[in-house]
Amino acid sequence: MAQRTYPGHSLIGKTATTKRKVKNEVIRQLTRERGPDPDAESWLLMFQGKYQPEYWIVLLVKKNATLKAIDEALRDIWLECCSHLSAFTIHGEDYVSFPDVEFGGKSMNARLGNLFSVGLTGEYIYDYGDSTYLTFKVLDLVPFSPKGRTSVEIVARNDPPDIRCSVCGEPATEICLECLYEDSETPFFCDDCFEKHECDEEMSLPVVNSPRMGQCAYTG
Ligand SMILES: [Zn+2]
Ligand SMILES: [Zn+2]
Ligand SMILES: [Zn+2]
Repeated sequence: MAQRTYPGHSLIGKTATTKRKVKNEVIRQLTRERGPDPDAESWLLMFQGKYQPEYWIVLLVKKNATLKAIDEALRDIWLECCSHLSAFTIHGEDYVSFPDVEFGGKSMNARLGNLFSVGLTGEYIYDYGDSTYLTFKVLDLVPFSPKGRTSVEIVARNDPPDIRCSVCGEPATEICLECLYEDSETPFFCDDCFEKHECDEEMSLPVVNSPRMGQCAYTG
């Protein structure tokens, strides 16, 4: 089977790329636009939907930032609906957004400098009820800094997958949750067809470019 390419864009230089080529493309664009800074060290991290590999982002993160800073960025870009709990799993240990004496887990104030190395992989969960699962990989350690005063910058992202209305074939805008919960393979509709669709109108969420699409109250 041919490997899917999962197209996307480097947000530095706005160039088209694919998931497989994105690391080299981002480094090329950072070199061109900002130039290497011998005093800067940042991780290039790839996050993707564990079960939806077509959703991916690349983050440039200061070498000694905290896991919390990444958690905030992931929520902001992809996940936040109602302040659910989240956790990273790294080297078999959980780092949770609200460490709990009873259930254990380390704090997300842990710094990346002691934890990360190039090639490291790990997992991340947002919301223990209607969960979104991500995996990540440390792609590289590079001589650049995130822009401004932030410690995390999103530098590349997948293009929105081409999701079509199951009735007319136009680009889909709504997911019918009733259909989704009934395991229909065609829960996607455009506005017009969704209006005519017989399920409850309230039971819908917008189509958005995120692995959390269609979950809980996530609207992008
Ligand atoms: Zn929620
Ligand atoms: Zn339609
Ligand atoms: Zn429906």
